[in-house]
Amino acid sequence: PNIREVQLNDLIEDIIGISEQKARYSNVKIEKHLEKDLPPVFASPSEMQQVFLNLINNAIDAIGTGGGNISVTSRVAGDYVIVDVADTGSGIPKAMLARIFDPFFTTKPVGKGTGLGLSICYGIVKKMGGEISVNSAVGLGTTFHVHVPIPKEGE
Ligand code: ADP
Ligand code: MG
Repeated sequence: PNIREVQLNDLIEDIIGISEQKARYSNVKIEKHLEKDLPPVFASPSEMQQVFLNLINNAIDAIGTGGGNISVTSRVAGDYVIVDVADTGSGIPKAMLARIFDPFFTTKPVGKGTGLGLSICYGIVKKMGGEISVNSAVGLGTTFHVHVPIPKEGE
């Protein structure tokens, strides 16, 4: 669906703008650290926005009512653009980590979560030759890493 050259920094800015109201309501501060001169990648803009929106919404939920921080970072590492979404929320227990990308896996109350967000993110990122991974520590927070391949010269 509409794959073209996109600047992920621009999509991140859009999604942070959309999320700011919900974040403020939950006492969550969203910081961004976007690398200047980030190379463009080939992706569907609306799908990538969906990925970032899902990750930020999950981060806000994980922070809960006590307030906290989300940091969105873009950077280049080797042949990939990497976007990290880090939160100071609840963290994810080790035993649960293997299941969070499964469709319908949710720990949220009925009506609050479908458990589809991360499985959709996974599908979108895989389809464009990327990877999504997670690091988490209970009580400290969680970081999702989205790797998107940088197109080679002439592609
Ligand atoms: P949903 O948000 O509808 O529950 P997701 O697929 O987006 O479904 O997430 C699945 C589960 O993974 C969540 O219910 C939650 O338990 C866990 N999770 C996802 N993101 C985070 C996060 N940033 N911090 C803590 N837990 C998370
Ligand atoms: Mg979700």
